[in-house]
Amino acid sequence: MGRWLTWVSHQRLTGWACSQCGWTFPVPAMLTDKEAKSAYDRLAASKFQEHDCSVHGEPAALVDSESFAARARKLVTRGFKPKDAAQITLQEITFENRNDPGAARKAQADAEDFLRRVKDGLI
Ligand SMILES: [Zn+2]
Repeated sequence: MGRWLTWVSHQRLTGWACSQCGWTFPVPAMLTDKEAKSAYDRLAASKFQEHDCSVHGEPAALVDSESFAARARKLVTRGFKPKDAAQITLQEITFENRNDPGAARKAQADAEDFLRRVKDGLI
């Protein structure tokens, strides 16, 4: 079975994880610079290629299927362009969190990250 790099964003972990095992690559706190983020993504991708699933055990329920990237990717697999998928997901999340401006702002940042990663060929 294939494995893929998946973006996880919730209380316990923000960063990359493996779809098939417990391997994770948490994002350093306060990483806001675009260049630094891209460098971090590339590092995660190469670490991901190197890791051996058999030594990391089961995914510890870390893969958040409801994260922004997971939702947007689901739309992409249904035939949407990444840009449209990001826009739709952003609208949905903003609507679901209409009483929570913090969540809407986070969704906006997630949308930008998602599109940047699509552009860099990471998703
Ligand atoms: Zn793995």
